[in-house]
Amino acid sequence: MPGTSGSSGEIVRLRGVGVSYPGGTAIDGVDLAVRSGERVALVGPSGAGKSTLLGLCSAGVRADRGDVEVFGRSLAGLGAADLAGVRRRIGTVHQRLHLIDRLRVVHNVNAGHLGSWGTWRALGSLVRPREPEAARAALARVGIADRLHQRTGDLSGGEQQRVALARVLVQDPDLVLADEPVSSLDPGRAEEVMRLLCETVATPARTLLVSLHDFDLAVRWCDRVVGLRAGRVLFDLPAARVDAGLREELYSLSGR
Ligand code: ADP
Ligand code: MG
Repeated sequence: MPGTSGSSGEIVRLRGVGVSYPGGTAIDGVDLAVRSGERVALVGPSGAGKSTLLGLCSAGVRADRGDVEVFGRSLAGLGAADLAGVRRRIGTVHQRLHLIDRLRVVHNVNAGHLGSWGTWRALGSLVRPREPEAARAALARVGIADRLHQRTGDLSGGEQQRVALARVLVQDPDLVLADEPVSSLDPGRAEEVMRLLCETVATPARTLLVSLHDFDLAVRWCDRVVGLRAGRVLFDLPAARVDAGLREELYSLSGR
């Protein structure tokens, strides 16, 4: 499809974006640019607008004002087919993994193909898994190749998190959006999953926008950290320039 990225290599571009709900304002005049190959963390207290901002990028949430561009295309002007084309190039990892427990691992990994496979091909694959080698290779990259035929629900939480990453590898997206992907894991596992997530986006080079509750993980694993509070960008800095003072400021200011 035309438009791989914006004129300056921007994969995501928000200009003066606002999102309001009857209960209040979730996003309040946000400008943000994410360039190709960058790993950008969104941090901020609960309710800051992190999930809403990620939803804007995947066209799951519509902007009430301002403009959202993804891969150089303004989402507001796109019809259903173009929107589907954009979504095919976006991989998502959620806190809740959206895996189907009763299916074998291979099927959950192959769900990464759903954007490009037609319905019949997808249904056929449930009988006889298509491309099991691609699924096995993806599982090998996240260290659980031997789980291919196991029931997903029988895997540990950390293993299921890896299945979700293998699904992204099989989808092969240009942009990965991850909403608090490690918040339900203990610190050791969180570190491990962040490492795998960063490896997933490293080869081939993809762009990552990830919301994280843990400020230290954001600084350690991302190139840039964006602090959100009450729907506004409080700071947007290279990770090396983010310090404990900023963290204090982000979390200590009174909320909305
Ligand atoms: P975060 O992910 O940083 O915790 P969210 O983006 O989920 O923040 O939410 C930002 C604000 O928008 C919160 O006040 C939340 O209650 C509100 N909000 C988010 N989604 C909805 C919705 N679907 N309906 C009403 N209010 C919402
Ligand atoms: Mg959230």
